[in-house]
Amino acid sequence: DLEEHDTLRRSLHNTIQDMKGNIRVFCRVRPPVTSEETERQLCAIFFPNETSLEIRKARESVSVISGKPVDLKQEFSFDKVFPPEANQAEVFEELAQLVQSALDGYHVCVFAYGQTGSGKTYTMQGSSNDFGMIPRTVDLIFKKIEKLSTSDWTYTVSASFLEIYNENIRDLLVPNSTHNYEVHYNEGRGVTVTNLEIVPISSAEELKVVMEEAQKNRAVAATNFNEHSSRSHAITKIHLEGYNAETKAKYSGSINLVDLAGSESARTSGPERLNETKNINKSLSTLGNVMLALHNKDQHIPYRNSKLTFLLQSCLGGNSKTLMLVNISPFEECFLESIHSLRFASKVKEIKTVAKKNKTYCTMPPPK
Ligand code: ADP
Ligand code: MG
Repeated sequence: DLEEHDTLRRSLHNTIQDMKGNIRVFCRVRPPVTSEETERQLCAIFFPNETSLEIRKARESVSVISGKPVDLKQEFSFDKVFPPEANQAEVFEELAQLVQSALDGYHVCVFAYGQTGSGKTYTMQGSSNDFGMIPRTVDLIFKKIEKLSTSDWTYTVSASFLEIYNENIRDLLVPNSTHNYEVHYNEGRGVTVTNLEIVPISSAEELKVVMEEAQKNRAVAATNFNEHSSRSHAITKIHLEGYNAETKAKYSGSINLVDLAGSESARTSGPERLNETKNINKSLSTLGNVMLALHNKDQHIPYRNSKLTFLLQSCLGGNSKTLMLVNISPFEECFLESIHSLRFASKVKEIKTVAKKNKTYCTMPPPK
């Protein structure tokens, strides 16, 4: 029986996914773009195999204590390492499997982490000739839903777009809004944001149109877009509600795609920033602390210390699958920031969570 076969296939898929662990960490080193090739000194980065990388400064440094050269070579390993020549399709391969998990009721969260200029936005959005993770995810969701439409499953898709800047939430679909956006947690509904637009979506094309509008609004509100995007987090959230008319099973999953603020912004404190808040990017540093607390299995996880972690609480704890994409710049001057990102990523890799499906049975069809 087809339905039974489908259920079995899905459950096998998710068992395999669970065995792979619920937090996966990928590292991607971007290539220099044409104008940078002659201007900037490259860092020496080696890729011994698919899951590790070795990084060393091209010029040897000398220890201030002994006066001898210090070996700055460091080795890291992750679930997957992508060299500069890797294309978006290769990076998307793993994420494609998580799209199925989201249709099966999991909360999936994909973070792009890294210093400004390391390739986060390129990885998430991509260019017009090589689409990034967000447009690929959208296409795959609707392709899969289309396939399922011959079964007893129907899905409703909706989306929201927001950004967090200076601990304030902005709805990217409602520019210049005077509303107050607050994060709330409720046992039944999980995390919600007051006043946030959640738009129903019926096709990949429709979702892309709304997404473009959100991107445009993000740029328009900023006086200096580069600085703005290096300090703000942009979150694309796609809700997926599945309902089986035959068995009355209901799945409620989501995919959150997060283009994080530049990782340097949580730590840099040059004199020009003294007048700003002491903590340049509270959400980004709290994300690190939450990851660390999860890693240490602390009793208290400080989710509520920042907007980002409160908002993504269900993606960071048990009920989720997380993909952390750590982006690295290939330049020597970025060496220390790269090491910082790689160490952060190594810590994240050690966290293990147990994901659980959000499946309920109801006797009524879900509200239209
Ligand atoms: P971030 O969002 O981390 O600040 P960007 O995504 O804007 O960084 O990338 C910086 C520059 O490098 C951009 O010009 C972008 O087009 C280019 N770039 C990043 N990643 C790649 C890649 N994998 N292939 C080609 N160009 C890339
Ligand atoms: Mg960017």
